[in-house]
Amino acid sequence: MMAIDFKAQAEALRDELIARRRDFHAHPELAFEEFRTAGIVAQELQKLGLEVRTGVGKTGVIGLLEGGREGQTILVRADMDALPILEENQTDFTSSVPNKMHACGHDGHTAIALGVAKLLSQHRDEIAGTIKFVFQPGEEVGRGAQAMVDDGALEDPRPDVTVGLHLWNSMPVGKVGVADGSTMAGASIFDIKVTGKGTHGALPHVGIDPVVCAAQIVTALQTIVSRSSDPLDTLVVSVTQIRAGDAYNVIPQFAELHGTVRYFRNETRDLARERMREIAVNVGFAMRCEVEVNFVDLTIPVINNAEVGAKLRPLFAEMLGADNLDTTARTMGAEDVSLFMNDIPGFYFFVGAQDMTADAYYGHHHPKFSIDENSLPLAVALLSQAVAAYVLPE
Ligand SMILES: [Zn+2]
Ligand SMILES: [Zn+2]
Repeated sequence: MMAIDFKAQAEALRDELIARRRDFHAHPELAFEEFRTAGIVAQELQKLGLEVRTGVGKTGVIGLLEGGREGQTILVRADMDALPILEENQTDFTSSVPNKMHACGHDGHTAIALGVAKLLSQHRDEIAGTIKFVFQPGEEVGRGAQAMVDDGALEDPRPDVTVGLHLWNSMPVGKVGVADGSTMAGASIFDIKVTGKGTHGALPHVGIDPVVCAAQIVTALQTIVSRSSDPLDTLVVSVTQIRAGDAYNVIPQFAELHGTVRYFRNETRDLARERMREIAVNVGFAMRCEVEVNFVDLTIPVINNAEVGAKLRPLFAEMLGADNLDTTARTMGAEDVSLFMNDIPGFYFFVGAQDMTADAYYGHHHPKFSIDENSLPLAVALLSQAVAAYVLPE
């Protein structure tokens, strides 16, 4: 068969991709409330002749594109949810819902995956195998992928390979991040409750102060990264919330700390959890406070399979030029796409989408987050090419 010009075919979808992304952008929906978005996705996939399953993991949608011939199954993953942020951009497609905003690019991801479904359904007869499009809810709360997996998203058929992408607005359009190995962190969260004995602010000696204890715990936790873990092994421990007290003249009974741990290796997470317990409980002991630590794992790291990477990089290089591939792109941000890549070889890549027209750089999750929409057709071309590498043999 003739090689498909994915760039040209994706370019032909440009207007549709932009219109669709702007529509999703104007109508953001939070985790597990993606009813409108999922409805549009299901309708579009049905129109393209895919077999569609809705309500997977509450609001997730799966579309199966069965090729004309037998072959492997490849999973294409997109996420649909927005964030609880009040948008500060002023455009024709600014969020129409107060305190809800697509500030991570998932509006683009949904439009892109629909574009890939459309592009590849035009080659249905040539396809050897099955393409499983997975539109997941609740990525931002780290629960959507698990909900879909619990609902059988990885079965019937079980994918041989998983691919997906994230629009990345710290990278210019035309660049892609294609590192092997750990590319996004695993994420855990923790709650530390410090119990003292309340007293008058003027009479500390008749109480036990949980505030001073909590402050020392915050400081001591910094030694997990600086003293306990291997300097060559990446780990982040961030205390992001401190809560205690209600009055100027009352030493409270309780103080609470909350935060997140990010890591690339499960062993490193286990070390962080162990040290956190030891430090918090024993600083508490020294300060005569009771300390409870609750540590919850959210997502595992995104680990790109080297064989899949070796297959895709030359194809991407042909499309964009080898200089535009960044084989070191990594972030301590987390992504629950990792659950679709657990035990299944997969590759998750970053597609440059930096908006050069913005008055300053605003990162993902900022109220002024924006993307360059020229990234959309390019992303469709790359993702289609990645899929084709497995189900459209030349
Ligand atoms: Zn995000
Ligand atoms: Zn995201």
